[in-house]
Amino acid sequence: MKKNIYDYTLKELEEIFKPSFRAKQIYHWLYVKYIHEFEKMPNLPKTLQQELSEKFSANNLSIIEVETSQDGTRKYLFRTQDGLSFESVFIKMRDKKINEEGKIIEGEKYTFCLSSQVGCKVGCAFCSTAKGGFVRNLSAGEIVEQVVRLKEDNGLAPEKRVNIVYMGMGEPLDNFDEVTKAIQILSELNGLSISTRRQTISTSGIAPKIKKLGELDLGVQLAISLHAVNDELRSKLIPMNKAYNIEKVLEAVREFPVDARKRVMFEYLVIKGLNDDLGSAKALLKLLNGIKAKVNLILFNPHEESEFERPHIQDVKRFADFLVNKGLLCTIRESKGIDISAACGQLREKEKKFKYVSCETKERK
Ligand code: SAH
Ligand code: SF4
Repeated sequence: MKKNIYDYTLKELEEIFKPSFRAKQIYHWLYVKYIHEFEKMPNLPKTLQQELSEKFSANNLSIIEVETSQDGTRKYLFRTQDGLSFESVFIKMRDKKINEEGKIIEGEKYTFCLSSQVGCKVGCAFCSTAKGGFVRNLSAGEIVEQVVRLKEDNGLAPEKRVNIVYMGMGEPLDNFDEVTKAIQILSELNGLSISTRRQTISTSGIAPKIKKLGELDLGVQLAISLHAVNDELRSKLIPMNKAYNIEKVLEAVREFPVDARKRVMFEYLVIKGLNDDLGSAKALLKLLNGIKAKVNLILFNPHEESEFERPHIQDVKRFADFLVNKGLLCTIRESKGIDISAACGQLREKEKKFKYVSCETKERK
C-alpha cells in the first residue's frame, strides 16, 4: 500500500526529498492549493512527480456522504483506504468583530470537529460512539486530511482561519502520538498554518496523558469532559474514572501549562435528574476553585442507545446563572447540527450501513 503523504511533517519530507525546498513546494500544493495528484504539481520535476505517485498517496480519504443541517453545519462521512468509515463536522458560526474605527464587522468563523479514532475504548454510558466499540486509531495523516477535505469541499480560502476541536469520534489522548503529530502538521506555517492555540483537545480524563501533553507544551487548548462532581456518578458515566478519578484528573490539569489569556475548559454534560441540580453547581464551583477554568454546559443529546434524558433548559440556565454569579465563566453549548445528528456524542461508525446501501463516492474537484 502507498504511504499517506499527510502523515509526514515538513521536516520529515525535507529529509526524504533533496534539495529540501522540494518539501515546502509539496506542502504548498497539498495544504494551500488542496491538490491531491502529484502530476498536478508543475514546479516539481517530472521524475519527482513520478516517484511521489509510485510511493505516496495524497488521496486517502473519500467523502462518502455529506449532510447539511438547517443551521449550515455539515456532517461528513469519510471512508479510509481500508474501508472503515468515520465522521467529521464542519461548523459555521456568525462572528462579530470590532474594527479599528469601532464599527462592528459581521463575519463567519469556522470550527472543524475532527475524529481521532474509529470508535472509542472509553465506553461512556451516554455516548453513541462508545456503543460501536473500538475499531482502530486514525493516523496523523488521516486526521490532517479531514481538515484539507473540509476546507476544500467548502471552498474556504487557504488563509481563512479555522478552529480545530478534537471532539469527534474517539479519545484523542488514547491515540497520543498520532494526535500530537497531527497538531504539529496542522500548525506548520508552510502548510495549513492552524496555530496550536486554535486547536482544542477534549479528553475524558486520561490523567497521565494530560500530564504528558502538558510536558510537550505545544500550546494547545485543553478541554476536560468532567460531567459529574462526585466519583460515584462520574464512574457510572465514564468507566475510566475508576482508574483516574476526579482528583487525579484535576491534579493533572493543575500542572497543565495554560496561556495567560486562556482557560481550561470543563465540559459538563447536563443530564435530566442526574446532575442538573443546584447542589451539583455548588460542588462544581468548589472543585474548580483555584483552577483557571471555564465551564461549558452541554445539553445531553438523546439517542436510541441511551435512556438518559435531555435536561430542561430552565434547569441548565439556573445552573449556569449560579456559576456566573459566583464569578466562574460559564457558557451553554449551542447544539449545532442536531437535525442531522451531527451534535456532540452522536457520531459513530456507519460501516454496517455501507455494506447494504450503495453510496456513490463524492467526486472531488
Ligand atoms: N473523547 C473525548 C472527545 C470526544 S467526545 C471526550 O470524551 O472528551 C466530545 C464531547 O461530546 C464530550 O464532551 C462528550 O462528553 C460529548 N458527548 C458525548 N455524548 C454526548 C451526548 N449524547 N450528548 C451531548 N454530548 C455528548
Ligand atoms: Fe469516547 Fe469521548 Fe464518547 Fe467517552 S464521550 S466514549 S471518551 S468519544
